[in-house]
Amino acid sequence: MSGTPSRVFHRLPNEPMPTAVAGDGCYIIDAEGKRYLDASGGAAVSCLGHSHPAVRKTMHEQIDKLAFAYSGFFTTEPLEELADYLIDNAPDGLERVFFVSGGSEALESAIKIARQYFVEIGQKQRTKLIARRQSYHGNTLGALSLGGNMARRELYQPLLSENAHHIAPCYAYRHQHHDETEEEYGLRAANELEAKIIELGPDTVAAFACEPVVGATAGVVPAVPGYLKRIREICDKYGVLLIFDEVMCGMGRTGYLYACEEDGVAPDLLCIAKGLGAGYQPIGAMLVSGRICKAIDEGSGAFMHGHTYMGHTLASATAMTVQKVIRDDNLLENVRLRGEQLRAALQERFGNHHHVGDIRGRGLFVGIELVADRATKQTFDPKLGLHNKIRLKAMEEGLMCYPGAGTVDGRNGVHILLAPPFIIDESHIAEIVEKLDRTLTSVLAEAKQ
Ligand code: PLP
Repeated sequence: MSGTPSRVFHRLPNEPMPTAVAGDGCYIIDAEGKRYLDASGGAAVSCLGHSHPAVRKTMHEQIDKLAFAYSGFFTTEPLEELADYLIDNAPDGLERVFFVSGGSEALESAIKIARQYFVEIGQKQRTKLIARRQSYHGNTLGALSLGGNMARRELYQPLLSENAHHIAPCYAYRHQHHDETEEEYGLRAANELEAKIIELGPDTVAAFACEPVVGATAGVVPAVPGYLKRIREICDKYGVLLIFDEVMCGMGRTGYLYACEEDGVAPDLLCIAKGLGAGYQPIGAMLVSGRICKAIDEGSGAFMHGHTYMGHTLASATAMTVQKVIRDDNLLENVRLRGEQLRAALQERFGNHHHVGDIRGRGLFVGIELVADRATKQTFDPKLGLHNKIRLKAMEEGLMCYPGAGTVDGRNGVHILLAPPFIIDESHIAEIVEKLDRTLTSVLAEAKQ
């Protein structure tokens, strides 16, 4: 941290931040030599940790050959190879990839291609979108309108809101009734989509979007068994396209390359980013089903959308190596194994903690929901700003975790998201638990005073 005020438009301009200068596996090192264990992969990005030798090698080699060839003029080998890999391993029906630079661009692309699809097949009136409350699909205006994170939307009203509608999330810890099984709850939650489609008029709805495992807005909330299957059935019944936002939960984070594999459900459009390039390059993508490609091929012939950096050569080569490392080093297996160990270790340390309401997740995508009272699930007073205090105290301890405050039924719920690199071992798990314990002990003691 230098003494002069920063000219960068930082997220919190008045909050001093350490200056990161180097990466070393699961750690980031600052200008003073302090090491931070990256237990959140930044914002669930750095799935291979930092300064990975194989990724660095590819990047050097690719820069020496060609960094960028504009996709309006050329295709490149890294671009084609990456598209083949993503499609060869994708859920059924996804046939082509549209590359972008990040998650919001992927969601914007999904919204636009869904709209264009219905124009191509003569159903121009299908313009409405449905998503879920407490969801985040990006910060550009289209993606923000689609999302259900009301705090982020407030400043920018009116958004494109007449076209975006919201139903309840699938959030068992908060919404499952005591006399319901998980499956019964999943059906009830999914059936809200059918009710909303009928309310809006089935022939006016273009698409429904959701994260198979909700990330930052609710602190890692996986769909209960059967929920996504029922969602798929409802979409098929009413001719509505299904968009999965796997920007955070995809690319191996849950122990499967695509999170929806575990649910056995394939979407019409699948958005990925973050772990695709593991932070070594900004890259995102939208995978598109064959029927949408066919309608466009046989209609106007092109998707009327694009960005300068789509299919960026260096980003494609980098992402391909990231994916090869995940495959060749069997890292999905490590994600499943270490994920179970991490959840078990958290459960052992915090399972009976008065302020820990729920510990949940899939693979190395783990959420801890904090409550003022475990028995009543009462949320903390938002004025305490607990999530910021946890982030700062954890950084002091040398731990990057990702605390957030989502709106729970109109109140401010606090959670901590953990998304460590896929290469972590047992010593890192022990270090996460220790540092988190010290952080929570200190911050919660202060909150009581
Ligand atoms: N969708 C989800 C589920 C996300 O978590 C995010 C970012 O956190 C986005 C979309 C937006 O991605 P980006 O920040 O790369 O634009």
